[in-house]
Amino acid sequence: MTAAEAEPTVFERIAAREIPATIVAETPRVIAFHDIAPKAPVHVVVTTKTGAYRDVVELAAGDPGLLAELVEVARGVASDLADGEFRLVFNTGAGAGQTVFHVHAHVLAGGLEEASLG
Ligand code: ADP
Repeated sequence: MTAAEAEPTVFERIAAREIPATIVAETPRVIAFHDIAPKAPVHVVVTTKTGAYRDVVELAAGDPGLLAELVEVARGVASDLADGEFRLVFNTGAGAGQTVFHVHAHVLAGGLEEASLG
């Protein structure tokens, strides 16, 4: 099965407004919404509107401009919802905790001074 034939990912369905989410930022190709299970005072998922890339390694190789756009949206979210300082996490591979195989970044911000990495 090719990516085009695959079932839409949960994040594609959020981008299509088929699944509700609290959207906090959007560009033509990128969307950001509050994580349903937040692990920090600010925890936002920033992702591409289509799921053509499984992870950040594929995105960087296939469309570096889109990766830069995703990072810029993450920066804006951290400025809007926190003090502009943030952790940007791309879980890459099941062994690293990735569960949704549609490239996305976790923006974690607010009160992270005491939080260890991971
Ligand atoms: P993990 O589940 O280990 O964090 P990922 O890095 O693949 O793995 O992250 C997927 C993230 O997407 C999780 O933080 C999860 O809470 C979030 N998520 C899943 N479904 C939804 C949804 N419908 N709305 C918002 N966030 C979601």
